[in-house]
Amino acid sequence: MIPQRVVETKRDGHVLSREELSSFLRAYLEDRVGEYQMAAFLMAVYFRGLDGGELDALVDIMIDSGETLDLSHLPGPRIDKHSTGGVGDKVSLVLAPLAAELGLYVPMMSGRGLGHTGGTLDKLEAVPGFRTGLSSSEAVRVLETHGAVMIGQTGEIAPLDRRLYDLRSVTGTVPALPLIAASIMSKKLAEGLSGLVLDVKVGSGAFLPEEERAVELARTMVAIGAGRGVPTVALLTAMDRPLGRAVGNALETREALECLSGGGPADLREVVLSLAVEMVRLGVGDELAEGVRARAAEALDGGGALDRFGRVVEAQGGDRRVVDDPDRLPRAPVTRGVDAPSSGWIASVDPVELGRGVVELGGGRTRLGEEIDRSVGFVLGVAPGDPIERGGSLGVVHASSEADARRGEEIVRSAVRVSEDRPDPPPPLLRGRIDAGGGGLGDLSGGA
Ligand code: URA
Repeated sequence: MIPQRVVETKRDGHVLSREELSSFLRAYLEDRVGEYQMAAFLMAVYFRGLDGGELDALVDIMIDSGETLDLSHLPGPRIDKHSTGGVGDKVSLVLAPLAAELGLYVPMMSGRGLGHTGGTLDKLEAVPGFRTGLSSSEAVRVLETHGAVMIGQTGEIAPLDRRLYDLRSVTGTVPALPLIAASIMSKKLAEGLSGLVLDVKVGSGAFLPEEERAVELARTMVAIGAGRGVPTVALLTAMDRPLGRAVGNALETREALECLSGGGPADLREVVLSLAVEMVRLGVGDELAEGVRARAAEALDGGGALDRFGRVVEAQGGDRRVVDDPDRLPRAPVTRGVDAPSSGWIASVDPVELGRGVVELGGGRTRLGEEIDRSVGFVLGVAPGDPIERGGSLGVVHASSEADARRGEEIVRSAVRVSEDRPDPPPPLLRGRIDAGGGGLGDLSGGA
């Protein structure tokens, strides 16, 4: 196999055989294909796509690059959720302990910040001492004891995805449908799940902003899951604006704690509850899932989910005291309020500007393996459709220096658009639902 020939074949829009793909990807894992060659290949896939056979082969090769967990000994359904990536998306931190509280086993395997979006691992690691890098056997022990574990890809699980994910994040090759689908499904299928719920983001802040592409992504992933015996359901949720108010790692962890305590922004709670319902339905079937939304709400309001989060944090080496004292999370030395320049209405809040802004303030990576500052980011004071008075708060910047805070202010000013006229209401938060039987945008009839 000559690496540049494989790159050229894809660059020129031809189809690679399973054997060609397999030897190229294996050679990469053995460092016989350079990062630069893989980056070129990923860019070729970005422009040319993969056909059904190539995508199938990529998923298989990614799964086979590591081990598959066998969790069949657990006495309950093993259900996970994964998001296609959004700004302000701290759902996993709330959902894993919540679903465990509802009787599921949740082996949640997440990623780091990717492109303009944040990553669950970076948010969790804002908790002092929290270890996301557990081995498979350590992770299984936490899962057995607490019903949830929140980890990064262990060295053993889909290591090929892990390397490609990091490389894509810094080479502009994230927003490619087959790469997203293979990345998500390979690691999820290696988890030994009995069901999977996907949160597929729709709108300008999603990796695939066009609605039709998001639907295609959801259908592709649902089919990959079904084809490999893991029932998979996708909810399409809005990402034309950030989810919740906090954007930036520790700030989002704090907001997740608020949601786990029964508070926090209404949109975050709604997405969490809807996904929890889908997870339980997949786990126990529709009949036994009756009343699950109320039970999930009670687990948030009554403190059960928060307590479970604390136990998982402790089991993973983290400082459990953050649960009662979020001030223990990293805090930026400089904060700067941003006032509205005029009265009117919030016409839009651009998630990509804010996501990129966090990276610019040091809260996300621009190079492989870079250290980040988990304390920085934004807490918005407004959401699309809100009225605003001149001088009212658009948000607060959290930064590591005065200069960065000033830059953060510019970012908020350009991300939050104030209009004199009342704007149309933003698109609904829950946009649709897709399972193996069908569904699509605007169709929530199957659940949620
Ligand atoms: N989440 C993943 O795990 N991979 C992607 O490519 C996008 C989101």
